[in-house]
Amino acid sequence: MDHKFHSSGNGGISQSAKNELTLKFGFKFTDLFDSCNLEKLSGTFNDHYKTENPEQYERFALYSSRKGEGYDEIEESDILINSARYLEQFLAEFFGIKNEIDNLIKENEYERVILNVKKDFIQRRVFKKFKPADLPKLNYENLNCSFNILRSVLFSDLDWDSDEERCTALVINDFLELEKDYKTLIDAVKTEFTLPESSKQKANDFRSRLLNSSEGKVFFENLNDKLKQDENRYNNEYIKNIFGILEAWAFSRYYDSKGKEEIIDWVLYKLPLDLNYFDLVHNKEIEPDSTDTIKGEENSLRKRDGFKLTDTRYNNRQVMGEVEYCVFCHERKKDTCSTGMFDKDGTVKKNPLGIKLNGCPLDEKISQAHFLKDEGRSLAGLTLIMIDNPMCPGTGHRICNDCMKACIFQKQEPVNIPQIETRVLTEVLELPYGFEIYSLLTRWNPLNVKRPYELTYNGRNVMIVGMGPAGYTLAQYLLNEGFGVVGVDALKIEPVHQRYTGYVDMNGKYIHPEPIRSFAAIRDELDKRIFLGFGGVSEYGITVRWDKNFLKVVYLTLARRKYFKIYDGVRFGGTIEIDDAWALGFDHIAIATGAGKPTIAKMKNNLIRGMRMASDFLMALQLTGAAKKDSVANLQLRLPAVVIGGGLTAIDTATEAAAYYPVQVEKFLERYEVIVKEFSEEKFWAMYDKEEKPIAEKFIEHGREIKAER
Ligand code: SF4
Repeated sequence: MDHKFHSSGNGGISQSAKNELTLKFGFKFTDLFDSCNLEKLSGTFNDHYKTENPEQYERFALYSSRKGEGYDEIEESDILINSARYLEQFLAEFFGIKNEIDNLIKENEYERVILNVKKDFIQRRVFKKFKPADLPKLNYENLNCSFNILRSVLFSDLDWDSDEERCTALVINDFLELEKDYKTLIDAVKTEFTLPESSKQKANDFRSRLLNSSEGKVFFENLNDKLKQDENRYNNEYIKNIFGILEAWAFSRYYDSKGKEEIIDWVLYKLPLDLNYFDLVHNKEIEPDSTDTIKGEENSLRKRDGFKLTDTRYNNRQVMGEVEYCVFCHERKKDTCSTGMFDKDGTVKKNPLGIKLNGCPLDEKISQAHFLKDEGRSLAGLTLIMIDNPMCPGTGHRICNDCMKACIFQKQEPVNIPQIETRVLTEVLELPYGFEIYSLLTRWNPLNVKRPYELTYNGRNVMIVGMGPAGYTLAQYLLNEGFGVVGVDALKIEPVHQRYTGYVDMNGKYIHPEPIRSFAAIRDELDKRIFLGFGGVSEYGITVRWDKNFLKVVYLTLARRKYFKIYDGVRFGGTIEIDDAWALGFDHIAIATGAGKPTIAKMKNNLIRGMRMASDFLMALQLTGAAKKDSVANLQLRLPAVVIGGGLTAIDTATEAAAYYPVQVEKFLERYEVIVKEFSEEKFWAMYDKEEKPIAEKFIEHGREIKAER
């Protein structure tokens, strides 16, 4: 069989000069595709680990030799977390990216002040001290004036314009520390406590700057003059004054209509909401005139135009807010997000909606990965995630959330685990050679003690029918076990970046893949990308909420495996039968074509003109490229459309139809204008019969309306 990726296509990237990657410890990039060399790499890792940290290495070596059997979860987690830290260090040196790994840790620490202030001040002080019933006593405008005095007199050097949230946290953090130190000092009549010199200097400096400004004196007005004779008490009192104002200000801001708008996206104020299983959507409004019409709150709406990615995911600050919320339950063997929740008799618990709380179906080491992300060690976290979930680009945010449902927090919002997982992966992919690191970890991961590196080809071949999530995941596991794998799919699957996958040249010589230095070289804009057809439902479903570049990561990773090939347009049971597969030399056939069949509505004329199967509509929209501005494909959709059903496919269909219609009529208008300009009006209308004409007229009319609105 020909190598599938031989033929054509570079996936739209420019062919720049050949990438170079110099690896340490005497390895070449091509060695990373050879199982014998991967075995050697394991030896190198072990040698370095042993030299660097003999004690931890001995524990790991024993765990590894026992294939992880018989270990208590807490002990196992400890060994793996320590070894993941070392593996991160090893990979940083191997790929020459030590500075970038250190920067990730620094960037993480940059957010720490916000997380600390949120926990120690907003949650533990402000929202414990005040309740909404106190609001009438609190005047937000006055409190805000006081805060602005502090801001201008003491903190004008902070960069308020670029990051108000962090500046606010820095102000609060200073007074939080001063308040704690002075309180301890004043209370410590009988105990020993020495006021740190830095606190004393800061308190004196703040005091003199406030007293020297006309506005700043306000914080001292109620203080007795006699206090001035005792500097410590005087400082304690004015700090208490300011601290009290900060508490009241922070609370009332959360409820003030203007103040609230300013902090709407702040992690500082993101407090876990209570879970009411029978009213799960919080941000909704009921239309005043109609009790049965609900809509999302204006500020929670995500505007959509066309087919660009609408969900850019959490930034690191938001992700760190979730990590900080996680209580690292593996330390108490309570990480139900991974293991699931069970009743005393051993049956899986159900939530009030009757949903089984199985936790992550892969038993991914979620809590342990969060623990490492908290340290800013995303690469270390990813090595743990990939022990159980090597195809993690195909999971995470927008894909699965069984873990969240089984999070220990059952009465309030769960930790947003998928956002964390996806962030951890993205941070690694965005490192120099990040894709290569991910790709290597699919073939070599010493922490995966049951299969630390891919085995050599064992001469047995498996045909996998269907290249959706089940098919490509099975391919990954079989390849690591040494099987040759051929994936067949009924859909058209485009070749992908052959320079990065490796190929057979005109002379029959195998050309090794080039390393990918920057993830940006393979990343596409969602509305401009070529529909690759790989990934089944992940490709034609999920639409604009999921970044399909992750699918490309999976595709590229598998496509560069020497013993993996894909054949598209092959219908199992039609193009190829079971006996054909045996005759072609396959030893096994695996069917991975999905669990569900499309539901055909039992009604007369259910496929008459104007009717369409929802799944067929979604596939056609994606695979014909009709959704793209520069495609001539047209699905001739007219509105209003009725979508029958209320499941995921129906929701996707409704949203996609609404987004596709404007694209369609704008394209139609553009074509009309070009034809009329180049030829004539008559020529254009001559193309349509009397049934089509009114449809064309409507498209042009709507196209003009949209153009005018733009
Ligand atoms: S995600 Fe939830 S269950 Fe899992 S470790 Fe964190 S808090 Fe515990």
